[in-house]
Amino acid sequence: MADFAKSLTAKLARRGIAASEFCNLSNAVERRIVKEYGAVFLNADAEVEMPDRCCFKNESEVAAFQATLKISKRTIGGCTIELQRAAMNALLKAADAVDAITPKGACPARRSFADVQISWNETVEAATDYWRENPNAEGITLSAEEAENLASLAGERQIKLIFELEEQNFLFHPDRARSIAVYTAIPGASQHLLMLALDIEEYANEKVRGALAENGWFQTVFRDRPHFTYLGVKEKDLPSLGLKSERFEDREFWLPDI
Ligand SMILES: [Zn+2]
Repeated sequence: MADFAKSLTAKLARRGIAASEFCNLSNAVERRIVKEYGAVFLNADAEVEMPDRCCFKNESEVAAFQATLKISKRTIGGCTIELQRAAMNALLKAADAVDAITPKGACPARRSFADVQISWNETVEAATDYWRENPNAEGITLSAEEAENLASLAGERQIKLIFELEEQNFLFHPDRARSIAVYTAIPGASQHLLMLALDIEEYANEKVRGALAENGWFQTVFRDRPHFTYLGVKEKDLPSLGLKSERFEDREFWLPDI
């Protein structure tokens, strides 16, 4: 298996981007972003555009990036979705090979910075309320001081604190058993902002997953079952990009090996 960080550095260099400017792997939050969602940055389709940073800071950065893209818009199963054109073409080929691929949820493909931030805030607030009332595995509830501190912070400082609390078994996923990162993306870091991801209804259908994989769409966010990512490569080539396969239930996820 290739080394993920080396593979990413080489890929960025071909796009004229210095890896040190794209992402700081010694920053805990940025490292987490790359670990959780970073497979998308290895997209091998020459038609696909990539950002020059691993995390957008605000709406205007997202809008500026999305304005550079060749976007394709389709209505599938009554839902209009927008993806980078190469990703849409591959999706339509996969859909042709099976009975149906149906977008799932309110924002199944393209998202804005605000879409991701709103979902993050709601998840954080609900988890904070829950852990104020309910003890974690160690029998401890979240103190009023910690809850206030969390509410007062924004951006990277808040994200960092959440990951620290998760290490103390205050898990922010709504099932209270997993990390917030696999439920809602870190603001600015969702693969949906890149327009290379789609959430689908038929994620449990092996034939659908097979048709998607045949056309370069894979599951790259661990245990996020409806979520697929366009990588634009054959499955056999994924290890040579520095992605490792990890099984959950009866399916494989392709994750950055860092
Ligand atoms: Zn998704």
